[in-house]
Amino acid sequence: MGYVDELIAHVKGRNPGESEFHQAVEEVLESLEPVLEKQPEYRRARIPERIVEPERVVMFRVTWTDDQGEVQVNRGYRIQMSSAIGPYKGGLRFHPSVNLSILKFLAFEQVFKNSLTTLPMGGGKGGSDFDPKGKSDAEVMRFCQAFMNELYRHIGADTDVPAGDIGVGGREIGFLFGQYKKLTNAFTGVFTGKGINWGGSLIRPEATGYGATYFAAEMLGTRGETMKGKTCLVSGSGNVAQYTVEKVNQLGGKCVTLSDSDGHVYDPEGVNAEKLAFVMDLKNVRRGRIKEYADKYRGVTWTPIDARAKSNPLWDHKAECAFPSATQNEINELDAKNLVKNGVYVVSEGANMPTTPEGVQVFLERRILFGPGKAANAGGVATSGLEMSQNSMRTSWAREEVDARLKDIMKKVHAQCVAASERFGTRGNYVSGANIGGFLKVADAMLDQGIV
Ligand code: NAP
Repeated sequence: MGYVDELIAHVKGRNPGESEFHQAVEEVLESLEPVLEKQPEYRRARIPERIVEPERVVMFRVTWTDDQGEVQVNRGYRIQMSSAIGPYKGGLRFHPSVNLSILKFLAFEQVFKNSLTTLPMGGGKGGSDFDPKGKSDAEVMRFCQAFMNELYRHIGADTDVPAGDIGVGGREIGFLFGQYKKLTNAFTGVFTGKGINWGGSLIRPEATGYGATYFAAEMLGTRGETMKGKTCLVSGSGNVAQYTVEKVNQLGGKCVTLSDSDGHVYDPEGVNAEKLAFVMDLKNVRRGRIKEYADKYRGVTWTPIDARAKSNPLWDHKAECAFPSATQNEINELDAKNLVKNGVYVVSEGANMPTTPEGVQVFLERRILFGPGKAANAGGVATSGLEMSQNSMRTSWAREEVDARLKDIMKKVHAQCVAASERFGTRGNYVSGANIGGFLKVADAMLDQGIV
């Protein structure tokens, strides 16, 4: 067994049952093989062994009272994965599926993603198995306050700066920040994704979806093409999905699907600006289900999720581009084959690890333009980094300025992936390009900082 295989086996043995974490580690370590062979100093300093071990894991009880006066108990987490190049940085996820494995995979991915942004941010992730769906605003507030009653000890503007993720949007960030401020008596940039009146950055809500679209445009650019006229499949209907649709429309493309955990809508006419405004109101204000889109607009098909099906019909429509923007492992091998069969040759991952390893293999073998999440969705955290800069400088930049910086960062992320893949002999493979490009900066910082 080679060094990398041994290390993967070691990680699996040491972290039993953490399948998502194993999946993320395996993918990265396999890509790093040529680097570790060419540059033995990383192995000598045991950088790979260190990088797969979180610097700190915090797990805590969150107790709160619901509207009926019943006591509820949830579990809270913060994974502080790496601070080699900056304070820990990464979102909070509130979803019933949240567990240690999912947050460790997300924190691990975040380390490489943040490095690719070219900004000084380490990697972290956190959250809870709390489900905001169906809860009143008052319940969400009480939960957020209870969550922060413990988390506040572990975060800080120069230590660890959380943001949103699934189930954590503007409303939750507001409640979390308010409680942090109350407990610490300090108004600091300890969160990103803040409201625009209290330290937030313009374009932060849009950034992940816009960034994933810019990344797709960059990949298309390598073949002399643009987004104009492209038909796109989008999954999810939350933050990332909404702003992906907005940017695709601006660049002249058309999005024909949206989904939530109940199923997907297919609109052959495309989700235009008016329909997108309906979705934003439905999801961000009324907190309803995407099925209502099919009830409202003619010619739209609604397909519920079939948990026993071997593939997801969302990925079985004719298109050129796909933007998975819901959750991990939402494209399996069969879905990947369906996508390619239907003419999709650009996949830009707005979500984190939405494609299974078998699905990724299909994309790589067919040599389509496949942008993995840690590169394609880096625009969100990059703009969080810009929010941190504005907070430190006590200033705020105009919308156009932040968008221009975001676009420039996505170009740089793309260029780094291309350069790393060419340098290590895997040209055109953005998976190895992103993993290697992200790793080098973190690994070199770790070498510089000694055995800590
Ligand atoms: P969000 O606003 O909460 O939206 C998530 C969407 O995905 C919702 O439509 C949700 O449907 C659907 N979804 C969630 N879990 C699902 C599941 N298990 N099965 C089917 N559908 C599911 O979250 P978001 O911020 O857009 O995040 C989406 C993805 O992007 C995540 O992978 C996240 O880690 C990644 N990401 C987000 C950011 C960011 O800045 N927000 C940055 C980088 C990456 P329901 O409403 O039915 O749950």
